[in-house]
Amino acid sequence: MNTLLNASLKQLSSHLANKKISSTELTTEFLNRIHELNSQYNAFITVNEEMSLAQAKTADTLLASGRASPLTGIPIAQKDIFCAKGWLTTCGSKMLSNFVSPYDAGVIERFNLIGAVNIGKTNMDEFAMGSSNETSFYGVVRNPWDPLAVPGGSSGGAASAVAARLAPAATGTDTGGSIRQPAALCGISGIKPTYGLVSRYGMIAFASSLDQAGPMAKSAEDLALLLNVMVGFDFRDSTSLQRDAEDYTLDLSKPLDGVRIGLPKEYFAEGMSKDVEAAIETALDEYRKLGAQTVEISLPNTPLSIPVYYVLAPAEASSNLSRFDGVRYGYRAESYSDLGDMYRKTRAQGFGPEVKRRILIGTYVLSHGYYDAYYIKAQKLRRLIAQDFADAYKHCDIIMGPTTPTVAFNLGEKSNDPIQMYLSDIYTSAANLTGLPAMSIPVGFGDKHRPVGLHIIGNYFREAQMLNVAHQYQQATDWHQQSPL
Ligand code: GLN
Repeated sequence: MNTLLNASLKQLSSHLANKKISSTELTTEFLNRIHELNSQYNAFITVNEEMSLAQAKTADTLLASGRASPLTGIPIAQKDIFCAKGWLTTCGSKMLSNFVSPYDAGVIERFNLIGAVNIGKTNMDEFAMGSSNETSFYGVVRNPWDPLAVPGGSSGGAASAVAARLAPAATGTDTGGSIRQPAALCGISGIKPTYGLVSRYGMIAFASSLDQAGPMAKSAEDLALLLNVMVGFDFRDSTSLQRDAEDYTLDLSKPLDGVRIGLPKEYFAEGMSKDVEAAIETALDEYRKLGAQTVEISLPNTPLSIPVYYVLAPAEASSNLSRFDGVRYGYRAESYSDLGDMYRKTRAQGFGPEVKRRILIGTYVLSHGYYDAYYIKAQKLRRLIAQDFADAYKHCDIIMGPTTPTVAFNLGEKSNDPIQMYLSDIYTSAANLTGLPAMSIPVGFGDKHRPVGLHIIGNYFREAQMLNVAHQYQQATDWHQQSPL
């Protein structure tokens, strides 16, 4: 395969700096690849050559002027949940199938500012609700490792695009696992930072207290470079954190001697499939060789995270999605008798079944008489889950386990069984409920040669340490360099 397609962001950056290639050439390379292969994967909803090439041209000017930063001129695939000025921004829904954003999300703005190139908007589960990318109005996305397998969700288009080398890197969002789970199923790396580090401004809201954006790429080193661009205070997001800027690449090469890896006994119990367990155990052996020690810890409230998540996320979604009413933007039913009828028809026609299910659950748990029994109870349990992690971090520096209980399942296998689908996030949703940073890196293959992801959960603001831990493993192994094509 063309070496450019497998190159790290650092390599691409130095090719651009050394004038081995221009951003226009690099962008054209990836656009050609998207044209050639996107029909197989359906990873992109929108590709706009003209707009991408215009950005590449601006990047080439920046590069020539010597004002470039590390990711200037690099094509990045943007999840279609981020509003990008002049781009169709659908969130995977018919409801926004005609919405061209008049403004840029905070994340898009930060990439634009340093002259990165938006290479296209990636497919996703409708309003980021799903674990398989089968709920998108724009059709299912395929896993490049096996066209019969799901890519995971909701950032399935992003994961598929990076795995198939249609883009060197991508953005994703993670409300219950949507960066880490598709990263794991597609054999790539992805990180959900600490809640509040990346701006949610212009990122279409699903469950605001859980939503967090993050990068998806081939390696931890690439993720560090992307985080350097994405993290930063934004006054337009009321939960954005004001902190000193950090360079996430600085700690990458620290040795791992003495790092204490906590292994939650609840994760290594029933539920994890044998093939996943074998790959995780081999990865942990590698960590021991690298000088880390493993200690058993306990997260006793682990079984509660899915039920708590599926009360809180729908509750917030039912409120957030009330804005889609056919009045100001987006889809509107073609015929209706009066205002009430317009609202009803618009929402009945504009939302898909999974989104409706979430709105119904959310409205129910927030309604008078059920609010205390479900919503308030779930908030209390959320606190207990956070306490488990606080206790665990007294005994370890970082926590590891599987990202998902199984390798990628087949398309259609779980789409009629929401409970089974929801269980895909059994290991990931706690990081959203607590706001902790968490990532997934590829550590081998399971059944049918489908990828396995190692889940690394850090303490608050320990992204640099997590990336260090991931990078050291990637220096010693080459799973992250393997490509399905
Ligand atoms: N799979 C989970 C859900 O369907 C999480 C989605 C996400 O993180 N956006 O809600």
